[in-house]
Amino acid sequence: MVRGVVPRQPAKTGRHEGAQVSRPLNKSRKITGLRPERPGQRPGITKSKKSTPGGKYNPVAPERIAEILKRLDQLYPDVTCALTHRSAWELLVATILSAQSTDVNVNRVTPELFRKYPTVEDFAALTPEQLEPDVRSTGFFRNKSKSVVGAAKKIVSEFGGQVPDDMERLLTLPGVARKTANVVLGTWFRKADGVVVDTHVTRIARRFELTKNTDAPKIEQDLMKVIPREKWILFAHQLIWHGRKLCFARRPKCVDCALENICHAGDKTWSTVEIHKNAKL
Ligand code: SF4
Repeated sequence: MVRGVVPRQPAKTGRHEGAQVSRPLNKSRKITGLRPERPGQRPGITKSKKSTPGGKYNPVAPERIAEILKRLDQLYPDVTCALTHRSAWELLVATILSAQSTDVNVNRVTPELFRKYPTVEDFAALTPEQLEPDVRSTGFFRNKSKSVVGAAKKIVSEFGGQVPDDMERLLTLPGVARKTANVVLGTWFRKADGVVVDTHVTRIARRFELTKNTDAPKIEQDLMKVIPREKWILFAHQLIWHGRKLCFARRPKCVDCALENICHAGDKTWSTVEIHKNAKL
């Protein structure tokens, strides 16, 4: 090294050349329409590309949907349901217990639960009160116990002890609405009858402007219109994983998100594209 020449050190502030800095969006930030021009330059904000030629921006244009699906496939190629299960019945019980709870919490409870009551007939022989202590830690345990025992009794008495593999009959079970039915049909039976809409899917579908609705049945209908049927099962799992890993309800990690430049969510924490203020919950 030439004497007297000291190599450049990264600034202690982290604002050295080339550093990517995450900071909250400043509402007063000017929309420049420019992309970064020099390495290390903070990105400008680009206006939305028109997704229809000569028309206005269309968030559900087929080419945008295809791009979203492509990037989700790259990020989460083979994700599936995180609830531990060995049968359709175990998945049904785990899904009922997962309402207002986390999959981690449910997975803590179910191994012991299915060791104690191995078959659907064992559950059908219980009263809800007998089951309550075993599922207490998942929350809302009185309603969940009623649903699980009620579903077991119906499956034994009307469906020969087998969990039905169609939407119509699944929806007759106590405690089973379309979300639970879609989880069981998609994950266990590999049947795409609809799209699982949970809290993550709701939030991210709205951030991506795939729906303007806030209630699950309408969101599901909107998604079924724009997402190809062969993608319904995987797409929902991908959004759920994306919601857990990056696209949090509060302070999503947009700076690390591979879909950032095609996402105009109103509550992004960092953006290189125009923000659409209504694209959020
Ligand atoms: S850019 Fe942000 S808000 Fe948009 S999908 Fe990614 S993490 Fe979610």
